[in-house]
Amino acid sequence: MKTAIFPGSFNPFTKGHYDIVSRALTIFDKVVIGIGYNPDKPKPDDLQQRIEQISAIYNNNERVEVEAYNDLTIDFAKRHDATAIVKGVRSVQDYEYERTQAEYNRLMSNGIETVILFADPQYASLSSSIVRTLKKFGKDVSDLLP
Ligand code: ADP
Repeated sequence: MKTAIFPGSFNPFTKGHYDIVSRALTIFDKVVIGIGYNPDKPKPDDLQQRIEQISAIYNNNERVEVEAYNDLTIDFAKRHDATAIVKGVRSVQDYEYERTQAEYNRLMSNGIETVILFADPQYASLSSSIVRTLKKFGKDVSDLLP
């Protein structure tokens, strides 16, 4: 069985994230969505809510799991016996960031590969931070969330 992890902050989980998970499921048997948070800061207040929001989306799908972690992504991947880390890339900025992450994750893990899926053009400008900003100012963001 081939498992991939999909790490991120998912604050919140958007249609762009949903699209990456759907496409990753065409390549891998299982996708573990990992909500990463900083071990040096207090646990985010809304972490449980984020886990529940995402779990509810995949309620009936045994091939998707959701879990929080606060250590290295490669150690999270190893705990799940994952063969790959899946990332979505929207832009050159994402690309540069993911390239360095992928290089070190492979070196430090003895070979866990990063699989990049390029964002669907309809979601290429969608980010969790845009959703948070719109929400803060009272806009309806339901079209942006799965
Ligand atoms: P964001 O970058 O929006 O704050 P995350 O840090 O939680 O979201 O992102 C987790 C992963 O999902 C990263 O690999 C990121 O590049 C990817 N991603 C985020 N938004 C999208 C999108 N709209 N389309 C494709 N991939 C995305």
